[in-house]
Amino acid sequence: MTDVPLLPTAAPGSTPIRVMTIAGSDSGGGAGIQADLRTFALLGLHACVAVTAVTVQNSLGVSGFQEITPDVVAAQMRCVIDDIGIGAAKTGMLASAPIIDAVAAQCRESGLGRGSDVPLVVDPVCASMHGDPLLATEALDTLRDTLIPLATVVTPNLDEVRLITGIDVVDDATQRDAARVLHGLGAQWALVKGGHLRSSDRSTDLLYDGTEFHEFDHVRIDTPHDHGAGDTLAAAITAALAHSYSVPDAVAFAKSWVSKGLAAAYPLGAGHGPVNPLWRVSRP
Ligand code: PLP
Repeated sequence: MTDVPLLPTAAPGSTPIRVMTIAGSDSGGGAGIQADLRTFALLGLHACVAVTAVTVQNSLGVSGFQEITPDVVAAQMRCVIDDIGIGAAKTGMLASAPIIDAVAAQCRESGLGRGSDVPLVVDPVCASMHGDPLLATEALDTLRDTLIPLATVVTPNLDEVRLITGIDVVDDATQRDAARVLHGLGAQWALVKGGHLRSSDRSTDLLYDGTEFHEFDHVRIDTPHDHGAGDTLAAAITAALAHSYSVPDAVAFAKSWVSKGLAAAYPLGAGHGPVNPLWRVSRP
């Protein structure tokens, strides 16, 4: 079951490429840090973590969360980067403006993101698939002004695009407009995930770097068990960038990784099950 070209892995006993996720914990194990760690591990990377919030969550939704203080979020990043070193990082749920400010300041201090050797993937998580808020509304300005300008790639879905840019993406033209605005906010590359925008059986994402549009068109995998799909895509992009893939190649790789995970997704609890990166180790 390995028609996704996999990333090279380190020999036993040698240190793998390291990456970091700066994100929230999902107690149900399907999204957030847990989705990132599953993808990073199954792609052969060593993943470090800066926890931003602990969500109380199951397959039916998020019933609450506890934020970690901004200084502790930044301290987790600093101590790992200074000692272990990382080849790329991603952000997920950041919960509040003070946490975004602390993460952005630490990225600048540690030389992560746009213009540095260490790519930063910003997945601008705003809410769960059930609509439960994961980012304070008043934090949107901070996201736009301090973090997106540091992004090597920003990876919003259509709801996040609407919140960040005010653009309601309804077709190819508005998807391009949104990508232009996101790039204009300072992201080096903007990936506007199309979901089932253009047709019910295709999923077309659009990537833009200020000069060229790249389209990534895949058969849409129709499953209710897609919890954590956005996190998984951003984690797989991060993994490929840590392996020095170009951004378009990293996105192409990540799209096939997520498609495989969606095709193998499983039911869990009474609600939505997760994308399943465990297909990688299944032995039919
Ligand atoms: N919980 C956490 C901690 C997350 O980071 C995310 C998404 O990034 C979610 C929940 C929501 O995932 P989904 O929209 O797939 O339900």
